[in-house]
Amino acid sequence: MKNISIPTPSAPVVIVGGGPVGLALACDLGRRKVPVLLLEQREDCTESAKVVVVGVRTMEFCRQLALAEEIHNWGFPHDHGLDSVFVTSLDGYELGRVKTPRLREGFSSRFSPERELPCPQTWFDPILKRHAASLPGVELRYQNRVEWLEQDDDGVTVGVTDISTGRQYSLRTRYVIGCDGYSSTVRSLLGISMRGHPHLDVSVSVYVRI
Ligand SMILES: Cc1cc2nc3c(=O)[nH]c(=O)nc-3n(C[C@H](O)[C@H](O)[C@H](O)COP(=O)(O)OP(=O)(O)OC[C@H]3O[C@@H](n4cnc5c(N)ncnc54)[C@H](O)[C@@H]3O)c2cc1C
Repeated sequence: MKNISIPTPSAPVVIVGGGPVGLALACDLGRRKVPVLLLEQREDCTESAKVVVVGVRTMEFCRQLALAEEIHNWGFPHDHGLDSVFVTSLDGYELGRVKTPRLREGFSSRFSPERELPCPQTWFDPILKRHAASLPGVELRYQNRVEWLEQDDDGVTVGVTDISTGRQYSLRTRYVIGCDGYSSTVRSLLGISMRGHPHLDVSVSVYVRI
């Protein structure tokens, strides 16, 4: 594959992976006016549905990007209950309840101007994606999978497959940042092994429209 190299314009920073971390980094570098190219193997960012709740620290980061309000208003009804309820079955006994104020009830904390918010990844990632794509100097390239990396004294050559066409190309960059999740290609290409169990459990997220 390394021989089929079609040169493409280089970018000073290449982010591998367009999950929440890669997209957030593209937003952050974009606002600091660092040109960046993000390579994501999936067709779009709406294919993943892991995150359901956005934590306080992440909301603080989104606040810095002026995205907190959009995340607050993505569509979850502000008067719906947010308590987590532990039951013996759906029509059984309630065993316990973690109380959480509804969004419309407002919230104040001594520790943060933000609160944890329900915002599933199928809505959260597109908000980050739209923002990243709007910043000058940020390019998001979907259906582009990083296959190999070669580092030298001046930077890194990145081997990529454009999945939509099957075209293979390479590009030059100063820095590669691996944001490609737990099964990271970048990590394994660097020969860094993962300790512990890669799969702690098997979960399924289900959205029910009622
Ligand atoms: C069932 C479940 C529920 C969860 N719920 C929550 C929650 O409610 N709140 C919360 O904050 N967190 C939650 N998490 C954790 C959260 O999903 C992760 O912390 C988060 O997705 C990590 O983001 P990431 O961008 O680092 O990695 P990922 O989301 O894994 O994204 C990595 C991206 O890299 C891409 N990629 C991989 N290899 C390549 C390559 N070679 N070339 C190009 N692209 C590549 C992948 O396609 C993927 O899009 C949950 C996780 C699971 C499993």
